[in-house]
Amino acid sequence: MAEDVIIIGGGPAGMTAAIYAARAGYSATIIEKIATGGQMILTDTIENYPGFSEGISGFELQQRMEDQAVRFGAKIVYDDVTSLRHSAGLWHIAAGQSYEAKTVIIATGANHRAAGIDGESEFSGRGVSYCATCDGPFFKGEDVAVVGGGDSALTEALFLSKICKSVTIIHRRDKFRAVAALTDKIALAGNIKVRMNSIIDTIAGDRSVEAITVRNITNDKTDVLDVSGVFVFIGLAPNNQCIDPSLLDQDGYIITKDDMSTALPGLFAAGDIRSGAFRQVIRACGDGALAAKSATEYIENNV
Ligand code: NAP
Repeated sequence: MAEDVIIIGGGPAGMTAAIYAARAGYSATIIEKIATGGQMILTDTIENYPGFSEGISGFELQQRMEDQAVRFGAKIVYDDVTSLRHSAGLWHIAAGQSYEAKTVIIATGANHRAAGIDGESEFSGRGVSYCATCDGPFFKGEDVAVVGGGDSALTEALFLSKICKSVTIIHRRDKFRAVAALTDKIALAGNIKVRMNSIIDTIAGDRSVEAITVRNITNDKTDVLDVSGVFVFIGLAPNNQCIDPSLLDQDGYIITKDDMSTALPGLFAAGDIRSGAFRQVIRACGDGALAAKSATEYIENNV
């Protein structure tokens, strides 16, 4: 029998959609590719999620959301969705197995972008990382570099500064994009150095990362820094592999109306995969709640 709501992606948007749909009495299944939690579980501390004044780890917040979704009767299956097709009033979802649903909420989120630095892919997993929470402990007492100037780069630099001997942030502009609460903490951290107007030309080493060549783009001066880790946080790319290209904006994110509906019947989107989304956990949750409400209203009115 067709599911009422199938949610693709088990990050905060998908989990919240499942909580709302299941709690309202609709059958809801999350299809997750690898691990629930999305980018949230890669974040050491979330300081701005209301209700947790001391902050909460992304991992713990995910566990709590998942427990809540399951408690209301949502199911979670692990599968890799390859395509979606609408026919005879139902959505047909191709993955390892096939699924049918009256409505689908896409909450596939976004993933880290690579910087394309010479040596970056060669040393990926051997000193180059995109997750400080996962890999930071391997660099205990060592010197590392962080690339980027947004909220992710500064949040993760602060996390690494508690483990590593030193952290050098390398940012291509003269001003951080991150919020003041983070830039203030960076200024106060004793072992974080900042190189503005700078980029990494090469990452070098033998078996693993040993050094980076940093270039100041205002005067072209280069120097070599000895580091054993390079953490890259330069923004996100949408996870849109299974989505009809006609639904996407020029950057590959799904265009939605205010109620989270897309241009196709019974198809909704929520969270970081949405065009123009404010990419925060709280917003992903809000999107998920609204998408579930719209999906269940669609079922009542159309199916
Ligand atoms: P972001 O806000 O897009 O920032 C990306 C940073 O990387 C920018 O400083 C950008 O430089 C730099 N950059 C981009 N391409 C580059 C390249 N090829 N080489 C070198 N540097 C490059 O991405 P993000 O920090 O991952 O954050 C993504 C979203 O998640 C944002 O909406 C953010 O607010 C949110 N987030 C929130 C929190 C929180 O609230 N606790 C934590 C993490 C992330 P320019 O500044 O020059 O463009």
